[in-house]
Amino acid sequence: MRSPYRSIVVLTGAGISAESGIKTFRAADGLWENHPVEEVATPEGFERNPPLVYEFYNQRRRQILSKEIKPNPAHTALAKFEHEFDGTFLLITQNIDNLHERAGSENLLHMHGEILKMRCRNSQLVFDIHEDLVFDTTCRCCRSAGNLRPHIVWFGEMPLHMNQINQALQQCDLFVAIGTSGNVYPASGFYQTAKIRSADTVELNLEPTGSTFDEHKYGQASVVVPAYFEGLLATVHAPQG
Ligand code: NAD
Repeated sequence: MRSPYRSIVVLTGAGISAESGIKTFRAADGLWENHPVEEVATPEGFERNPPLVYEFYNQRRRQILSKEIKPNPAHTALAKFEHEFDGTFLLITQNIDNLHERAGSENLLHMHGEILKMRCRNSQLVFDIHEDLVFDTTCRCCRSAGNLRPHIVWFGEMPLHMNQINQALQQCDLFVAIGTSGNVYPASGFYQTAKIRSADTVELNLEPTGSTFDEHKYGQASVVVPAYFEGLLATVHAPQG
């Protein structure tokens, strides 16, 4: 019988926040909230039209801070699991929203940045931001305008925390991907890195993505995620035979 898991890595994508009211990225037509990704999620798009890009992320930030947007049972189930599991647990999210931390997750890496942060393009220092960011916003380190950008990893840029992520993937014995289409590199290849080290790999998603995980469970994240992780807790807490 397989021994209980000792090291678990979970990757989440936009699908886990869909039932909280945040739209997913529509890979099929390349649109994010009705904007082509080249316009709002590339360094070239920002150079071409900074006001449009600032406003796009201002809208995302206002939405995240609105009263209507709350963690759903999938976010809560992951936080509960992290607190009750006595092995190593790392949550990696591609999401720029703050719903995992609001649900209580702690060992969490935002590999694509965070909407409630901005970054100085000179010093690379990162600051919290809850209000709108515009070209005229004065940088807290440079004391001048025009140097700030959303702390978001755009297409063509290097995701954050990759050393820590690769190390965790190489050491884990279970990898679970939740609500991610597998269209965005390098996150789309994480399950293969985990598999090379013989980890079990599980996909929890609304629909099949075509990826070759060992196990798949399909349905709304608010249903399948709590069911899967409650089942896992029962297993890891069961006496060994
Ligand atoms: P994606 O939008 O490409 O794919 C979402 C996946 O979630 C799809 O496979 C879809 O079938 C599934 N899904 C949709 N509703 C679901 C539900 N209720 N329960 C379970 N699964 C559901 O997402 P991605 O792979 O994360 O790539 C999107 C990129 O865009 C990321 O880089 C991310 O940074 C960015 N993004 C972030 C947010 C956010 O922060 N919430 C939202 C949109 C886009």
